[in-house]
Amino acid sequence: MIVGFTVFGKLKNNFNLNKYEQIDVIITHLHNDHAGTLSQLILYMWFVFNKKITVYSKCKNIKTFLDITGTPEESYELKTYSDNLEFIKTEHAKDLDSYGFKLKVNNKNIVYTGDTITLEPFFPYLKDCDEFYVDVSKNSNAHLNFENAIQDLRKIKSNNTKVFLMHIDDKDYIKKINNNEFFID
Ligand SMILES: [Zn+2]
Ligand SMILES: [Zn+2]
Repeated sequence: MIVGFTVFGKLKNNFNLNKYEQIDVIITHLHNDHAGTLSQLILYMWFVFNKKITVYSKCKNIKTFLDITGTPEESYELKTYSDNLEFIKTEHAKDLDSYGFKLKVNNKNIVYTGDTITLEPFFPYLKDCDEFYVDVSKNSNAHLNFENAIQDLRKIKSNNTKVFLMHIDDKDYIKKINNNEFFID
């Protein structure tokens, strides 16, 4: 799950968090819109339900990030991989360690780019991919430029992979995409 700015509040209000035996969180990078309420979620689960969540991340500052937000070490477990999860190093913002990942869940291969400026590191993982979640934008140079990437995305889609676009930053653009004006189909 992504624990951005408002995510903890939504989780708390919409789910009975106590009923889950195990909560795993994957952190791709430490921008606020992706990790901003991670500490709150950990603290809540720990102090209210006495449950430890598992945080998967390879970000080099993740431990410091949790330390400076007052998250006791014993309240979470930190892991860098699991049998069904592999991180994929990518480029996003200067000085920020950023990853996408490949996840196998319910017999589906999912590739998720996180925020990225490039598709390159993901190509080797796309051969047997069922669902591809990709960060695209119109205006930002910290995200993949949709118009530059569209040829590649069409190719990926033609290989029986469902493509999901994330992080789009322009209303008219979304309208155009939904009207298929970019012929992603
Ligand atoms: Zn970001
Ligand atoms: Zn973001």
